[in-house]
Amino acid sequence: MKDEYKTKKQLIAEEALQKNSSLLKALSHAQSQFIANIDTHVLFDELLNQLITLTQSEYGYIGEVLYSSEGKPYVKTNAITNIAWNEETRKLYEKFASQGMELHNLKNLIGAVLITGKPVISNNPSTDPRRGGLPEGHPPLNAFLGMPLYKSGKLIGTVGIANRPNGYDEDLIEFLQPFLITCANIIEAHRIDQQRKLSEKEMTKLSMAIEQASDWVVITDSKGNIEYANKAVEEITGYKRDELIGQNPRIFKSGKHDEQFYKKMWDTILSGLPYRIIITNRKKNGELFEIYHTITPLKNKKGEITHFVSTAKDMTQQKLMEEKINYLAYYDTLTNLPNRSLFNDRVKQAVARAEYNKKLIAVLLVDIDRFTFINDTFGADVGDEVLKEVGKRLSNSVREGDTVARLGSDEFGISLIDIAQSSDIVLILKNIMKNIRQPIKIVREDLIITACIGISIYPADAKDSPTLVKNAEIALTKVRGMQMNNYQFYTSDMNVRASEFLLMEKNLFDALKNGEFIIYYQPYFDINTGEITGMEALLRWNSPALGLLPPSRFIPPLEETGMIIDVGEWILKTVCSQIKDWQNKGYSVVPVSVNLSPVQFSQRDLEDVLERHIKESGINPKFITFEITESAFMQDIEFTKSVLEKLKKIGISVSIDDFGTGYSSLSYLKRFPVDNLKIDISFIRDIATDPDSASIVTAIISMAHGLGIKTIAEGVETEEQWKILRILRCDIMQGFYRSRPLPAEDVEKMLNK
Ligand code: C2E
Ligand code: MG
Ligand code: MG
Repeated sequence: MKDEYKTKKQLIAEEALQKNSSLLKALSHAQSQFIANIDTHVLFDELLNQLITLTQSEYGYIGEVLYSSEGKPYVKTNAITNIAWNEETRKLYEKFASQGMELHNLKNLIGAVLITGKPVISNNPSTDPRRGGLPEGHPPLNAFLGMPLYKSGKLIGTVGIANRPNGYDEDLIEFLQPFLITCANIIEAHRIDQQRKLSEKEMTKLSMAIEQASDWVVITDSKGNIEYANKAVEEITGYKRDELIGQNPRIFKSGKHDEQFYKKMWDTILSGLPYRIIITNRKKNGELFEIYHTITPLKNKKGEITHFVSTAKDMTQQKLMEEKINYLAYYDTLTNLPNRSLFNDRVKQAVARAEYNKKLIAVLLVDIDRFTFINDTFGADVGDEVLKEVGKRLSNSVREGDTVARLGSDEFGISLIDIAQSSDIVLILKNIMKNIRQPIKIVREDLIITACIGISIYPADAKDSPTLVKNAEIALTKVRGMQMNNYQFYTSDMNVRASEFLLMEKNLFDALKNGEFIIYYQPYFDINTGEITGMEALLRWNSPALGLLPPSRFIPPLEETGMIIDVGEWILKTVCSQIKDWQNKGYSVVPVSVNLSPVQFSQRDLEDVLERHIKESGINPKFITFEITESAFMQDIEFTKSVLEKLKKIGISVSIDDFGTGYSSLSYLKRFPVDNLKIDISFIRDIATDPDSASIVTAIISMAHGLGIKTIAEGVETEEQWKILRILRCDIMQGFYRSRPLPAEDVEKMLNK
């Protein structure tokens, strides 16, 4: 059909169809481009081109609407640049911008779109009252169409075209609707895309910062599997990143913390709270390092924990530095011993502790004799070696918890803590002097070193640490002026006691060697029949210088020096062979009680030693009873119980000695397999005169009988006491009333043939 035959309506329809198909083509092209992720600027340029061609306009732009902080819409000056404008528009803008022409000006026609939110048609823009007039030299505009772009009800952009030869009308606006929708969609997508790009850029910056940070950053999933570790983690731990990814941070576990430590951490972070801790971790090469951790749980929008971020500082270097500084400030680098300031500190601490636990402290200042001579004769190297060796020897002479320090050139300080009695100090002192005196193999010949020692004791000599040290210094000065290889206590009283103690120790040692100890026997009698039922072995010392001495004079030093162990074994052996001897002579022997010192009782292999001696003697164990004081019994209940059970197994009986002086609880007594209970002499002494004593004895006897234990009254001196005890149903008696302790040959006469 030729054009002239077509009706106007047909022509319009055809034109519309043609327009329509180009529009659709343009839109589908734009959409495919958009999907293909073409740069949105290129896309907008293309869309705008299509629009201009389609509407035969001269000018055109697509702009994004921005909002001011008060919520007012505006088109930023460069917003059009951001989105799209055609070449003619750009030229116009650039030409008139300098004259103050603004595309976003609310006073122009675009402004009218923004203000009304509706399309604006003007077919006489030059004189349109909605516009403030064209600038000087502006080419004439014959028509303008501005259209708002909406997305989800919000004005997000404007499209403006101008100078269409036929002008603009409502039909065209209607026709362009799909185009406007697409434009709005793309602007929105563009906006989101821009934001994403922006945040990606931010993220890249952030992750680069994290990656290169000198602090440790580890990110794990909610189960604790490592998803990310930064470079610092590699450097600190020595693990490569691919060795860490997928692993649990357990890989760093040092074994220095218990389950409780980790549980507390997990409990906190699983509850959604951050947790801060100092952890000791292990590197790949096994070395330990300390790290100050902050573990933060990351949550999603629903509040569920999706990740944990652990950030930390490696403290090892800092710590090493601190340790080094600390070391230099408090230690002597030659001997590696504490220096004077740490020593003073330790003495101060010791005093504070001793005030609390009521124990003694001793401060010993040790000065090497003739040190200047050694240094000058053999050289400084030898001098250094001597100092190191003396430091070592001093350290080996004291107990754990005591301090040995180097205070000055050849002066050492020692603080002995937790001392129960002053004789302990004398023993340690003796040990120190002996150890120093050992020859040192440094030069060709052995070098014998000796030292002088000044000692002060807390609390007798001073109650504060500076005075304590000062008094030890005074004692040292005194001894140095007198002779080499000697010691001096600050108080003269202590000097006397120390020398007495040392003399006593020597004498007791000789006594055992020379057979000056003897055993007396004191019989036990049945309280009703008066028959001999047993006897107690009591130690005596027949000292050549002092005569026959009772145990109260020498048992304490035997215990303090530990010699009671050897003497105790001697006693048992002697008693066993005495029993054997009586048996051989045809006597009907009675059980002999042997006293065990608390020092012996606390020995770990006690029962083995006792059993061995009894076996070797060939006597029946039923002839031996051990007496153990109530206080020794109660020191360590479980230990006592196990020893008693072992003794019972061997067939040895046990008596509790001096009962009533300690604080035994009856419920404990029930748990111990004891045979006899010896009521302490103090109750027996007063039994006839003091009703309290009588009632205590009554209670003890009935309680013991309730438990199937026999009672022995010790120290019965009078007939009256004996009679009362008989009425109170005591079983056995011992005391001067019937017999004093006697030498073996005298007690023998009491035994039946
Ligand atoms: P003990 O085991 O309670 O011994 C009883 C003490 O009471 C003995 O003193 C004994 O002589 C004394 N005595 C006995 N009857 C009377 C009396 O009628 N009147 C008075 N005033 N005293 C009486 P002794 O022999 O001086 O022993 C004292 C303590 O020394 C003993 O108390 C015991 O704890 C300890 N002891 C004695 N010999 C040894 C021993 O061989 N080894 C150990 N480890 N300690 C012993
Ligand atoms: Mg006894
Ligand atoms: Mg007793």
